[in-house]
Amino acid sequence: MLESKQSNSRKLYIESYGCQMNFSDSEIVASILVNEGFNTTDKLEEADLVLVNTCSIRDKAEQTVRKRLEKYNAVKRINPKMKVGVLGCMAERLKEKFLDEEKIVDMVVGPDAYKDLPNLLKEIDAGRDAVNVVLSKDETYGDISPVRLGTNGINALVSITRGCDNMCTFCVVPFTRGRERSRDPQSILTEVKDLAEKGYKEITLLGQNVDSYLWYGGGLKKDFKSASKIEKATATSFANLLAMVAKSQPKMRIRFSTSNPQDMTEDVLHMVAKHQNICNYIHLPVQSGSSRILKEMNRQHTREEYIQLVDRIHEIIPNCGISQDMITGFPTETEEEHQETLSLMEHVKYYFGFMFKYSERPGTMAARKLVDDVPEAIKKRRLTEIVDAQRKHSAYRTNSYLGKTVEVLIEREAKKNQNDWSGRNPQSLVVVFPKEQYQLGDFVNVKIKNCTSATLIGEAVGYSDNQQ
Ligand code: SAM
Repeated sequence: MLESKQSNSRKLYIESYGCQMNFSDSEIVASILVNEGFNTTDKLEEADLVLVNTCSIRDKAEQTVRKRLEKYNAVKRINPKMKVGVLGCMAERLKEKFLDEEKIVDMVVGPDAYKDLPNLLKEIDAGRDAVNVVLSKDETYGDISPVRLGTNGINALVSITRGCDNMCTFCVVPFTRGRERSRDPQSILTEVKDLAEKGYKEITLLGQNVDSYLWYGGGLKKDFKSASKIEKATATSFANLLAMVAKSQPKMRIRFSTSNPQDMTEDVLHMVAKHQNICNYIHLPVQSGSSRILKEMNRQHTREEYIQLVDRIHEIIPNCGISQDMITGFPTETEEEHQETLSLMEHVKYYFGFMFKYSERPGTMAARKLVDDVPEAIKKRRLTEIVDAQRKHSAYRTNSYLGKTVEVLIEREAKKNQNDWSGRNPQSLVVVFPKEQYQLGDFVNVKIKNCTSATLIGEAVGYSDNQQ
């Protein structure tokens, strides 16, 4: 796939918000549009087409997109021919309503409808508004080779599942991204091989719930029970997929996200332990430390089961980094239940985390059945307490690396000092060290001399064994 075509005359400006999946989807969209005569630009003012890939996960994410639309509106006054399309979860959630609510929008496209973009573009070129928000049973975009956007040429996202069947009561994703389906492992291996040939050094296998990956020839995960005997016998699980990818590119670092505790099986943990190139790091959202709240959230596991899983992870992968997502102030959450979240964090001592105040999302089970009854000030205070606890645990983790030597993949120049490189160790901690003779994309052993709660600071002591 060409990153751009010289003969293309139209310019696409594409912006992404929200989860990694959206960033990955925008690369698929850019790829489809290269064949429609568009090359990407990073200058909004010169765009013929502006696409914004949106997030609905919290109200704040939607407000951010609405503000961006105001900005596009101002630019449209200078460049009236510019067309604006909204992609992703907000498009799926609001559908045609978007056209009424935001006059600037010409096109609304849901996450499963990107292959229809050529037709939708014809509509807007003819001056008509265009909408496609149909969700699919089998679309995985497996046959599309993404155009890498904003890339450092080192890390890449590879999507392996789409949609989500979990129905967490707080979450809008099952409504905006549809039911869960997995991508053909052969197309995943081809994409990874192509990335390796282009010099990429690390991939992240992506999905809302990667551990639930299941390929049995195509179709929805929920329909697996009615698959044929042969389809069942030859199905590929996430553990199988991890092994296939790890073996196919032994020099490439492999990460995956997100792991849902209820679907994480021990064979995945053994695969991580077995393959040196699969990073010892698991993003394992918990959302709450209280079994009652977890039940209200429909998380399908208790506090005790989660702790058992974490303990098994540490047994099977002794130096595994674990990070979390947490929601504070879920409806009916009491002070004691908030304390249970803090005590769970104390037990796990996560490497880092992503922590949010509960935001009621229209259409979700929680919005329909529960009152958003934790006052804003209490949500805020609980969030501060969780963030403070996480900072303490992050510092505990980074301090534990003092004096140790870790392998770092160099990913970019450090933000604070142009004489330093920045990369990550396998546990996903950021490591900063003087550049010396090393280059972007090198695998380097770095001796850790200092740290903050978020960053390890050290000096390179040579290339790691992984350096080619
Ligand atoms: N599929 C993953 C899972 O369920 O663990 C991640 C889903 S989501 C894209 C990322 C995070 O956003 C969630 O893990 C959750 O912490 C947060 N989130 C989702 N819905 C939310 C809501 N209504 N209010 C606040 N945070 C929310």
